[in-house]
Amino acid sequence: MKEQFRLLAEVQDIDIKINKLRVNITRSPKKIEKLEAEHNALGKKIEFEQIKIDELEKERATHELDLQESDARAAKSKENLMSIKSNKEYKASLKEIAAIEKANRELEDVILSSMGKSDKANSALAEMKQELSVRKDEFEKEKKRIEKDARRDEKELAAVLGQRNKMIEKVDRDLKRKYDQTQKRLGMLAVARVENGVCHGCHMNIPPQMYNEIQRLDSVRLCPNCQRIMYYNKEE
Ligand SMILES: [Zn+2]
Repeated sequence: MKEQFRLLAEVQDIDIKINKLRVNITRSPKKIEKLEAEHNALGKKIEFEQIKIDELEKERATHELDLQESDARAAKSKENLMSIKSNKEYKASLKEIAAIEKANRELEDVILSSMGKSDKANSALAEMKQELSVRKDEFEKEKKRIEKDARRDEKELAAVLGQRNKMIEKVDRDLKRKYDQTQKRLGMLAVARVENGVCHGCHMNIPPQMYNEIQRLDSVRLCPNCQRIMYYNKEE
């Protein structure tokens, strides 16, 4: 019976390891997804910045065309000044030219400010692209590392599962059933070591009479508090 308890405690250690490996393996695709999402977010930011720049440039091209036309109109009006006979008409034409030129200067300011905005956006874009290329390398490296770890965990899991199968064969059928039931109910820790009258599953005291019985290691007893299989190990 003593050997049985020792075996069961070992099976439990293996089960904890199996569980940890399985958690790691299922987590790795999610880790990669998260990395990809971060990477794609930066790509999207770059796309938006490019759209912003394209719009700015399109708008500026329209302004430049307007300015050209307006400049031509002002020049033509100036030419026409010579042929104006009436003083009143002449004054009106001068006023009109001045208004056009004022509007043109304003448009020039708009174009200049738009150029400044484009410059800023372009350097921001260049920085983002640089960052993206650095992150792309990091992303690929990290992805490879996660995939490698997952393959290693899968290999280890296969080995550990084989080890468990061999070991569990040696465990008494009733004890095994009790272990499975307890594990189903309470999770990984189904076997609790008992030391100095205290159950290590729940850290509660065990009735002295029961503690004496457990020390004989001749029967399966469950902790009256946490219901785990109690296992006494003098050496530990
Ligand atoms: Zn307990």
